[in-house]
Amino acid sequence: MAEINKTGTLLTGAAAAAALAQEMRAQLDMLRARGVLPCLAMLRVGERGEALAYERAATKRCTALGIRVRSVALPESVSQAELLETVQQLNADAQVHGILPLLPLPTGLDAAALCRALAPEKDVDGLTPASRAALYAGEPCFAPCTAEACLALLRHYGAALDGQHAVVVGRSDVVGKPLAMLLLAQNATVTVCHSHTRELAALCRTADILLVAAGQRGLITERYVRAGQIVLDVGIHMGEGGVLCGDVDFAAVEPVVAALTPVPGGVGAVTNTVLAAHVLAAALAQNGLGKEFEKKFEKTKKSVDKG
Ligand code: NAP
Repeated sequence: MAEINKTGTLLTGAAAAAALAQEMRAQLDMLRARGVLPCLAMLRVGERGEALAYERAATKRCTALGIRVRSVALPESVSQAELLETVQQLNADAQVHGILPLLPLPTGLDAAALCRALAPEKDVDGLTPASRAALYAGEPCFAPCTAEACLALLRHYGAALDGQHAVVVGRSDVVGKPLAMLLLAQNATVTVCHSHTRELAALCRTADILLVAAGQRGLITERYVRAGQIVLDVGIHMGEGGVLCGDVDFAAVEPVVAALTPVPGGVGAVTNTVLAAHVLAAALAQNGLGKEFEKKFEKTKKSVDKG
């Protein structure tokens, strides 16, 4: 496990993703021994640039980790009924273990209905009402990959969560809210902020761990932070000259805090590995290996912890 030192640490996603990929090897071996090739279906409607870029990046990472990716592309003119029919076919296809719809959908199509139609056991990005309910009830489920990537990063760098004050900036269904639930499940004391929050800077300074998913480029400056904090930046924006940047003003915040994720190369670099881990877990569960793997994993984890 990597360590956060108090003089400033760059929380790079590549290191956390590599550790997660290492943990996944045993899962892959178990599936291969049964002749199962874990498969993710990515469902895209239209040719939106962001969706295509995400599909390319996720395909590259999943393939590198031994997950087969099936791209299902529908034209923008597809009807809601045809879209739902495609989801039903993927739900019923035993060769497909996880389904990821690329959102948002083109205007006129109902994304909520699409999410409701997904089979919960294949819902690898925590979009269905069943997954959300399970997350809020603290039951096993697939949480949205980005939110879980934040937890994987904190775990990798040995950040204590129990009793710590975590401030989450953002309350979206895909990042802020699930992130708050995951932090609560780890016994953090969680404050969730949004666009109506008063005294945001002062609140952010009270955090031990500050997690920012506001979708506002450079929102968090040195005024929002203090020494000793861990800061995770979920935001992704195209900056000047095509350079990616986040919701945190990195140059202003990095000299102040104990640890900070870069953009690019921070949370985003872990998200697709979490997606691959979810597909593997779904494939194990759908092949009756979920429990067997958990036992094996607990054993491995204990021996790693000991030595
Ligand atoms: P979103 O749906 O636009 O939600 C943004 C949230 O931030 C909302 O709850 C909003 O409050 C709040 N907010 C906006 N401006 C604020 C302000 N000035 N002060 C306090 N709160 C403010 O965005 P999202 O989908 O959660 O994504 C957030 C960011 O993460 C985006 O930059 C997105 O590109 C990025 N992202 C990254 C990954 C990754 O893997 N790294 C994955 C997904 C998204 P209200 O609810 O009051 O409107």
